[in-house]
Amino acid sequence: MLSRRAVLHGGLGALASGFLPLPRRLTAAGPPTGFDPGRVAFPPGAPFVRVSAQPAVRLVDGVPFAVGLTGEPYPDPHLRFPEAGVWFPPDRPPTPTEEVSIAVVGGGISGLSTAHMLRAHKPVLLELNRSFGGSARGEWWGNVPYALGSAYVITPDSGSVLEEIYQSLGLHEMYRLDAGVSEIELAGEVLQERFWSGAAAPPGDQKAFDRYAEVVRFMAERSYPEIPVDPGPGGDWVRELDAVTFKNDVETRMGMPAPPLLAAAVQAYCYSSFGAGWEEISAASGWNFLAAEEFGRWVFPGGNAQMAYQFYRQLAEADAAGPDRLRAGALVVDVRLVPRGVQVTWVDSADELHALVAQRVVMACPKNVCRRVLHDAERLDPEKFEAMHQIHHAGYVVANILLNAPIERDFYDIFLLRDGDFPTDAVEAEESAKVVDMLNGRFALGATPGARSVLTLYWPLPWAFGQHTLLLGEQTWENYAQRLVPQVRRMLRLLDVGLSDIDHVRMTYFGHAMPVATPGFIANGAAELVRRPIEDKIFFVQQDNWALPAIENCLLDAHHFAPQIAAGLP
Ligand SMILES: Cc1cc2nc3c(=O)[nH]c(=O)nc-3n(C[C@H](O)[C@H](O)[C@H](O)COP(=O)(O)OP(=O)(O)OC[C@H]3O[C@@H](n4cnc5c(N)ncnc54)[C@H](O)[C@@H]3O)c2cc1C
Repeated sequence: MLSRRAVLHGGLGALASGFLPLPRRLTAAGPPTGFDPGRVAFPPGAPFVRVSAQPAVRLVDGVPFAVGLTGEPYPDPHLRFPEAGVWFPPDRPPTPTEEVSIAVVGGGISGLSTAHMLRAHKPVLLELNRSFGGSARGEWWGNVPYALGSAYVITPDSGSVLEEIYQSLGLHEMYRLDAGVSEIELAGEVLQERFWSGAAAPPGDQKAFDRYAEVVRFMAERSYPEIPVDPGPGGDWVRELDAVTFKNDVETRMGMPAPPLLAAAVQAYCYSSFGAGWEEISAASGWNFLAAEEFGRWVFPGGNAQMAYQFYRQLAEADAAGPDRLRAGALVVDVRLVPRGVQVTWVDSADELHALVAQRVVMACPKNVCRRVLHDAERLDPEKFEAMHQIHHAGYVVANILLNAPIERDFYDIFLLRDGDFPTDAVEAEESAKVVDMLNGRFALGATPGARSVLTLYWPLPWAFGQHTLLLGEQTWENYAQRLVPQVRRMLRLLDVGLSDIDHVRMTYFGHAMPVATPGFIANGAAELVRRPIEDKIFFVQQDNWALPAIENCLLDAHHFAPQIAAGLP
């Protein structure tokens, strides 16, 4: 397998470097090959849903919003899990009516990819939402697909496992490359080279921008920390890197503190990508993301919902002749070892209980859910149970602005530094509570503007309890809408689009969107513990295995565990 470094030396590096003043490479106008919007019809449960022709809309301060927040369907997860004795007495689970080889709990990218790799064993997938995809779901408005959450992947290395997976899904024929200088909005202007060269900063800050560029290039070309981490001695340096904060490591390598504008840009990136600040996340995770941006991004129509959809489609097609194994609207409430394997109990959308016995179960739901539904987990593996408590989550709101107008500017992602007054810690972030970056939702459809456009706004809540504000708090969707309106006005001005061009704005929330990549989680062994299978019958594949919110780490852990899960199965 070629390393990242080999890819860079192969020529992409120069093109992808955020510090070289090269133009963005564009695909030809029009949709990429391999993608035909006209032919797509979505069955119930698919990761894409079509926007209704007549959505319920209400004006908020003059801007039309779809009523409510869509997202996680459970307003209070604590009340619905069995420790509260809601569904059945803990010692009397329902009698199973089905026996299967493999059951997968959770239908995000981790669950879908694991099921896809094990499809020969006809796994059953149980997903609590009405649609599969988890954070990688999307919507279609007319013929424009857009993401509700997860947006892009990093250009895979040639010959790598990731490239193979994307090829098996046909995604290698559906992407548009975003490989250019990151765009930054500062004081109402969009800057690229002028920002990253330090020209927009006070003259004394120039050296810091130069040093930062050198450090990023070094990490991308010579010292890229791979996650999943090599368990052998080869991974020791990554574990060491994981013990310190990203901010500390960046500034140590620069040999100076980052000046305010540079710090604001890195902070914006971290809020958007991690749901947490650079002072809160580990250097291994920070570099794993930020240095990889140098390799360029693959953007699919509908973002990473396109990947979820291709997994889903292939699984559904494989299932055409058999019973329905892709079960949406299935809230798993109990998973326990039984003499014949593992019993999984779930509640369907009519609140009816069902149970099956599987020879292997894959927990692809977050660990805060595992902790509650795994019967007797504390006794079965106390170290693992304890490690699961170390994972904290950040909340997230994503807003999509549906526009009846073209956007002339061809861009993918603009980070919004506004007037440079960017929060530097969680307290300031909570006070400010603003959208961090704005994506062009139809970027993957080509450079030619269409009659309809979509802007996807990323609004992380990077403070402790941000997710509780969303899930349990008193904030209504109108509070979020009111906070959003002045920001929407500003963004549209930036792109020269009129307010009257808004069809409506749609908001989605993710209460447990992002496991926070806390320093030491990998270094102190917690990552290995949370991934550890129970009795080679219950396996764990999830973004929070490494506390890292990235598609790549989900796919690589699915690939790592799939052979172990299948071992010994007929
Ligand atoms: C706003 C946002 C933007 C992002 N952007 C990017 C990006 O551009 N690039 C990138 O690489 N990564 C991005 N990420 C991160 C990436 O999307 C995630 O790492 C990945 O999608 C996680 O997949 P998963 O399957 O591990 O978890 P999830 O997507 O969280 O899926 C878990 C699933 O389990 C289900 N579940 C939970 N409890 C139960 C239960 N009791 N019973 C049944 N089902 C249950 C949930 O409903 C959910 O569908 C982003 C994330 C967010 C939130």
